[in-house]
Amino acid sequence: MATDQLIQGLRQKFEAVKEHRYKNAQIPLGDFLQSAFAMFHLKDPSLHHYRINYREREANLERVYQIKSLPSDSAMREGIDYIAPGDIQACFKVPLQTLGEEGIMDECRVLGRYNCLLFDGTQHYCSCATACEHCLTREHRNKKGEVTKTTYHHQALAAVMAHHGHKEVFPVCCEAIVRQDGSTKNDCELNAGKRLIPLVRGLLPERQYELLGVFDGLYPNGPFIRMLQKHEMRFVIGIQEGYVLIQVERLRAAQALQEHSWPRRMGKSVLPGGITNWCSTAKTRI
Ligand SMILES: [Zn+2]
Repeated sequence: MATDQLIQGLRQKFEAVKEHRYKNAQIPLGDFLQSAFAMFHLKDPSLHHYRINYREREANLERVYQIKSLPSDSAMREGIDYIAPGDIQACFKVPLQTLGEEGIMDECRVLGRYNCLLFDGTQHYCSCATACEHCLTREHRNKKGEVTKTTYHHQALAAVMAHHGHKEVFPVCCEAIVRQDGSTKNDCELNAGKRLIPLVRGLLPERQYELLGVFDGLYPNGPFIRMLQKHEMRFVIGIQEGYVLIQVERLRAAQALQEHSWPRRMGKSVLPGGITNWCSTAKTRI
């Protein structure tokens, strides 16, 4: 991938992010975001390490990332912490555009026509003591049902593009799973999914990309499936024990279910007794 093109494209998006600080802020917000991107791009384990390494990298940081100064720890946190996640969603367009131009989107098609997106949630903050207005809360109880501890979390639902022939996984978009503005209830992954699908379609429009979404057992849910259909996204959804399988058995007993199977082995054994990249496929019609 053309790294210079990627960095330049991100720089332009960062400069367009809405300023939320006081008018006389000396370092532009775009510089903070560019420093944060460089920190992850260079795989520094923390902001502290980025700051320690800054002096010996100063010339390269300016040449490659156009970073001209080292922001203080607190100024950088104040600058970035208050940016609404929605204000930087447009940044995902930059690498996706490059993937399209380099032909990677075409190379990553599965079943001849689909780009396969994997969806899953991840937790990136947890504390027993420090919380903000958007934190998810979890009450921990003892055997008597008494609350012994409350913890505070931030989570995110991510969509990535993957292909069985490529080691790399490409981020497509993500949505914060956090308490929504004015809400007194926790947010959940399924609700974040309902917000994320339209964002994904904004980045990978129907007229250009046929998408196959892969979801875990949290998603076999009527309104969610109808929304996937509305956005013309095909899907594979894992099903756990419970209501859906009971319904499948009921429909099978009523002979209202059609099943087609392709027990085709596509993978190769890489572990003793194990096979990767293999699945038995069944098509069911109600
Ligand atoms: Zn919080």
